[in-house]
Amino acid sequence: MTTTNFRFDIDGDGIALVTWDMPNRSMNVIDMTVIAELATIVEAVAGDAAVRGAVITSAKETFCAGADLAMLERMRGLYVDLATKQGEEAAAKAVFDESRKLSLLYRRIETCGKPWVCALNGTAMGGGFELALACHYRVAADSPKTRLGLPEIKVGLFPGAGGTQRVARMLPPSDALQFLLKGDALTVDRAKSMKLIDSVVAPADLIKAAKDWIKAGGKPVAPWDAPGFRLPGGAVYSKAGMMTFPAANAIYRRETYDNYPAARAILQTVYEGLQVPMDVALRVESRWFAKILRSPQAAAMIRSLFLSKQELDKGARRPAAAPPSRLGKIGIVGAGFMGAGIAQVSAAAGLQVVLIDRDQEAADRGKASVHKALSDRVNKGRMKSVERDGLLSLITPTADYAALADCDLVIEAVFEDRKVKADVFARIQEVLRADAILASNTSTLPISSLAAGLAEPARFIGIHFFSPVDRMLLVEIILGKQTGDKALAAALDYVRAIRKTPIVVNDSRGFYANRCVLNYIQEGHLMLLEGIPAAMIENSARMAGMPVGPLALNDETALDLGLKILRAAEADLGAGAVNPAQKKLLEDMVEGHGRLGRKNGKGFYDYPPGQPKRLWPGLADLVPKRLAREEIAAIDVEELKRRFLVVQAVEAARTFEERVVTDIREADVGSILGWGFAPFTGGTLSYIDMVGPASFVALCRSFEKKYGRRFAPPKLLVEMADKGETFYGRFAPGGKSQAA
Ligand code: NAD
Repeated sequence: MTTTNFRFDIDGDGIALVTWDMPNRSMNVIDMTVIAELATIVEAVAGDAAVRGAVITSAKETFCAGADLAMLERMRGLYVDLATKQGEEAAAKAVFDESRKLSLLYRRIETCGKPWVCALNGTAMGGGFELALACHYRVAADSPKTRLGLPEIKVGLFPGAGGTQRVARMLPPSDALQFLLKGDALTVDRAKSMKLIDSVVAPADLIKAAKDWIKAGGKPVAPWDAPGFRLPGGAVYSKAGMMTFPAANAIYRRETYDNYPAARAILQTVYEGLQVPMDVALRVESRWFAKILRSPQAAAMIRSLFLSKQELDKGARRPAAAPPSRLGKIGIVGAGFMGAGIAQVSAAAGLQVVLIDRDQEAADRGKASVHKALSDRVNKGRMKSVERDGLLSLITPTADYAALADCDLVIEAVFEDRKVKADVFARIQEVLRADAILASNTSTLPISSLAAGLAEPARFIGIHFFSPVDRMLLVEIILGKQTGDKALAAALDYVRAIRKTPIVVNDSRGFYANRCVLNYIQEGHLMLLEGIPAAMIENSARMAGMPVGPLALNDETALDLGLKILRAAEADLGAGAVNPAQKKLLEDMVEGHGRLGRKNGKGFYDYPPGQPKRLWPGLADLVPKRLAREEIAAIDVEELKRRFLVVQAVEAARTFEERVVTDIREADVGSILGWGFAPFTGGTLSYIDMVGPASFVALCRSFEKKYGRRFAPPKLLVEMADKGETFYGRFAPGGKSQAA
């Protein structure tokens, strides 16, 4: 037997050791060659009387990263191709047959008559963990780094190789559904306590422990294939089952607003599968899987949240010629809300941090807030206190700029005030090394204008974090007119070091993310002024797929900041740049009623201590227009939902036309990671492709007529609609993905 992905050795006790080690890859993944070779191995084990059983493990640091998503993309391609050539039914059948292969292979392992043990030497995800579940026994090496899980839901899919059925037969249905719907990655201890794995041993004993189980007479029968098997939570049609499934349905609706077909398919697969024997259940799962694989949501999510994100993480926008940046020590000036967060994530990446503020006391306060944030984690059991202390020891708070002398990168995060920033830059420049990079975390001031007073603007760049810094995955990197490649490479290397995803944008007011987000918040304000009840505004935004309503989001970002941004836009661009009604609403809220947002417990919502927030009853009196009951009943919620998505997507298209964003992957990934733009759409531009540019332009025009110029489609979109083009058709990522 010759295999390229596996080694196959039989020891003196007749136990086969199958070692997965794909050539030229840092991690094992499941592709068609793996499926074919593993099938040959399974038959070799089953058909050789001298082999007692098999242990499967990996020679890599991890066990398996899951299915090769490129293979799944090809399956989708097969479907599209066959659907045009042979019709929908033949295409659907072909996808079903293809996507079943892995499921049938795993079932063959489970029923081949020889015991199989999975020796999990490291992380196993998706199809890799499903393989473990199909083995008769699972033993894991004890390692804090290992994660086990079925994360498919995060890219709009679900486990299609038996995972839903096996998990639902191992755990009570509510736990199983939660595990499948959240896509959580478990530590080995947690997986053991949930009984998803059988034992945890020292890494050196892993293979011996696996073989010992076979030698001790481990049975080659899965519990659900043994007579008398009972589901852990009782049958679907039992009292317990009826307590679970209707409630699960309600939770699904509350959490997803029915926007995620894969989540719905998990519920259906488990509900239907648990009522039939395993082989039929696997067929049910495969049917749903083939259907979901063909869904536009899965296509969009795989593309943006997996493929594009990975490309950006790996430095798709990094200038190839720039050597790797030296990033041992970084400086942060401004130890406030953002500066402390940046210090925390930098130290977490192992970087030395100098944290500067106006005086020692203020710098110490910055470090103390990192201490508090980390201690909260320690108290919740998510971090060990030694890790916290190690991390804190990397942060040096001081008021002495001389400490910046040996920093490779300095990030400024002082007040959003030109004068203050200019003073700080001057002081930094006095001590900064000649080859170090200077960055600003400004959220509104153009980078090129901040660079004006600098001796070397080529070494200056924007690194725009989102708050809260430790949780938000996106960083916007802003190129000033004179920013050089070395600065860009250093910024990208730094973002990679702190394990966040970068997008690179050209300098412009609001950059990319804030431009779209401000449109979203403004739409909420304007709806309120139209007399639409606040609760309806917030709910329809969430139904559209946004994580928080526009009014709640405004409370988080602060109403006074919103007003300040409007006034600045008015001062710089003239009165026509702002909507006077929106400005008046914010003035009434902030100056008339002292409502600043969550930070003072009073915004569009009230924040009573210890209780959930609730909409401020005074809002109704602030709004000039009141709708009658029948007018409210006649509001078209679908239209509200579309307005929210369209007003953001059309702004994203403008930023692309204006070349603020130059790569469609960045627009899409940035919109989901930056502000949670309806992830099932794949992002702002992907949403336009999903709707179809012609229909999208028609929608823009009808909204423009009803609601105003902010919906006017940019020329680029009109041209694409006329020519029948899409963003991903015309601006294919990876290559010439530029607007002009
Ligand atoms: P903050 O008020 O919490 O912190 C600013 C810090 O700068 C304070 O600790 C202050 O003492 C210090 N500071 C002021 N003048 C200084 C000086 N001359 N020398 C040294 N330190 C000085 O503000 P923040 O929210 O952390 O914002 C900081 C920057 O980050 C601003 O440019 C802001 O626009 C930007 N930003 C903020 C957010 C956000 O959500 N808050 C998001 C992205 C970017």
